[in-house]
Amino acid sequence: MSTIVITGGKVITMDPANPVAEAVAARDGRVLAVGREPDVLAAAGPGAEVVPAGGRSVLPGFIDPHNHLLSTAESLVAVDARYPGVASAEDLVARIAAEAARTPAGQWIRAYGMDDAKFPGGRPTRRHLDEATTEHPVIVYHVSGHQAVVNSAALAWRGIGEDVADPPGGAFVRDEAGRLTGMVLDSALELLLPVAVDIGCHGPNFHVDLPREQLRSWLEMAAEPYLKAGVTTVCDPQVSRRELEIYRSAWNAGTLPVRTVVMPLSHMLDELASIGLAGPFGDDRLRFGAMKFYCDGTLLGGTAMFGEPYGDNFTGTLYHRPEELTDLVRRAAAAGWQVGVHTQGDRAMGYTLDAIRAAVAVSGDDARPRIEHCGYPTPAQVREFAALGVIPVNQPNFLYDSGTDFVRRLGDSRAHRLQPMREELDAGLRPVLSSDSFVSSLRPMETISNAVRRRTREGGPIGADQAVTLEEALRAHTLDAAYALRMEDRIGSLSPGKLADVVVLDADVQALPADALSGVDAWLTMLDGRIVYRSEGRAASEV
Ligand SMILES: [Zn+2]
Repeated sequence: MSTIVITGGKVITMDPANPVAEAVAARDGRVLAVGREPDVLAAAGPGAEVVPAGGRSVLPGFIDPHNHLLSTAESLVAVDARYPGVASAEDLVARIAAEAARTPAGQWIRAYGMDDAKFPGGRPTRRHLDEATTEHPVIVYHVSGHQAVVNSAALAWRGIGEDVADPPGGAFVRDEAGRLTGMVLDSALELLLPVAVDIGCHGPNFHVDLPREQLRSWLEMAAEPYLKAGVTTVCDPQVSRRELEIYRSAWNAGTLPVRTVVMPLSHMLDELASIGLAGPFGDDRLRFGAMKFYCDGTLLGGTAMFGEPYGDNFTGTLYHRPEELTDLVRRAAAAGWQVGVHTQGDRAMGYTLDAIRAAVAVSGDDARPRIEHCGYPTPAQVREFAALGVIPVNQPNFLYDSGTDFVRRLGDSRAHRLQPMREELDAGLRPVLSSDSFVSSLRPMETISNAVRRRTREGGPIGADQAVTLEEALRAHTLDAAYALRMEDRIGSLSPGKLADVVVLDADVQALPADALSGVDAWLTMLDGRIVYRSEGRAASEV
C-alpha cells in the first residue's frame, strides 16, 4: 500500500503529547508519523504521495457519536421539508404536490424536517396535505423525528378511523370537535407506518419497512455527503434488525460509507443477552457499541419530562415506569453493555440517574454511561454526572434551529441552560458533540459552530455563558467522541499507530471568525489511509 504525506498543514492532532504539527504520514491504513515536515517526509521515505495542504487545518476524521446513518440516507432521497425552504403550510403543500406529480399513485411520499413552530398559520393538518394529494399516502416528519403529520390517505391505508385509541407513549392529536388532525405523536407513529420491526414501547419506531436493495443503495449514496463533511465514524444510536441487516450487507460488500458503531435498542436486551452478545464487539468498520434506552420524549414535541410544566402546560411522558427503566438498564449492564439513555427534562434526568447509578454499581469504574441529548440537567445533576462518569451527548444544532421556540416554551432560565456544555467541562466531564442527523444537519462544522456561538437561527443568544472554545468543540467531535465509543485507542487523534482517518478542512479554522465556521467542509478526507474525498477545482494557493 502506498504512503501518503499531508504537508504544509496546521495539524491539530488531539494528541496531548504532540498537540500541533506541520505534517502527517499514513501507510497501510495507519498513521505513520506526525510532526515537523522534514521529519515526517524522512519517515515516509522516497516514493510517497505528497499532498500540500496549503495552510489548511488538518484534524483526525470527525466522529459523530449520535447519527442515524441509515435514516439519514433515507431522508437524503425524500422530500426536503426543512425550514426555511418550507416556511408555511402552503410551501409544504406545494412541495408534496410536486412530488405527487412524479410519483405513481399508491406509493408513499415521505418528507423530513418540518419545523411548523415557525409556520405563520400554525400546524398543518391532514386537510392541508389532502390538498396536495389524495392518491398517495403522505407522511411529513417533524424536525424532532418523534412526530409527523399525515394525510387522510395515510390514515385510511392503515385503517385508522376517528375511533382509534391512543397507544401508551403516544397520541393522535384531535381538534376541538374531537376529529383527527393528522398529527401523530411518538409511539402512535407505529400504528400508522409500515414498520419493519416491533420495538414495543422502547422508543419511537422509525424503522420503516422498505425494500432492502433500496435501503442499501441509499446507504451507499450517503457516502458522499458524509465524507464531504469530514465524517469518518458514526454511531447509529437506535439500531434494530432492519438497520443491522443493511449495515452488515454493506460491510460484507465493502461499501459501508464510514466506520459504523451500532447501538441496539433495548427491546433486544433479552435476545442479545441470551446469546451472550454485548459491545464492544465487531471490527473497525462495523461494531456493536452501547445499548440504547429511552427515558422521556422530546422538547419540541412537549413530551420531555420536566418538574415544572412548560409550553401549553406540558409535563412530558415516559417510555418506561422509572423502576422498569432502572431494571432494564441494570440488566443490560450486568450482561456487559455500556448504556446510553435518551433523556431531556430534569425530572426524567433524575430517573435516568437512578438507572445509571444501578448500572455503574454493576459495571464498575469504567462504565462510561451516556446520556443522549441531555437537554436539561440541573447543576446538582451535573455534579452527579461527574461522580458517575456520565458522558453527555450534546446536539447544539437544536439550539440554533429551535432556540427561540425553547425560550418561548421553557422560559429564560431553563432555555439558556439547555445542553450546559461549559458547566459540564468545568465539572471535569468529557461531553461530546453530535448531530442527531437525520433530525439536524450531519455537518460537524455546523455543530461545532453552534457549540461555540450559542446563537439561534434568528440571531439571538441561547445560553451564551454555556459556549465552549473552538478547540474544546473540535475535541468533543474527535477524541472525546472516540472515548464515548470506547475507541480512543484506535481513532480520535493523529498519533502514530492509530487508524489513518484524517480530514483536511477547506480553511484554517483557527483563523476564521466564529460566524464563518459553519460553512466549512472537508477539502480532503482520508479513511483507513485512503483518500476517499477531494473537493474539486480548488487550488491550495486559494487559502
Ligand atoms: Zn437520535
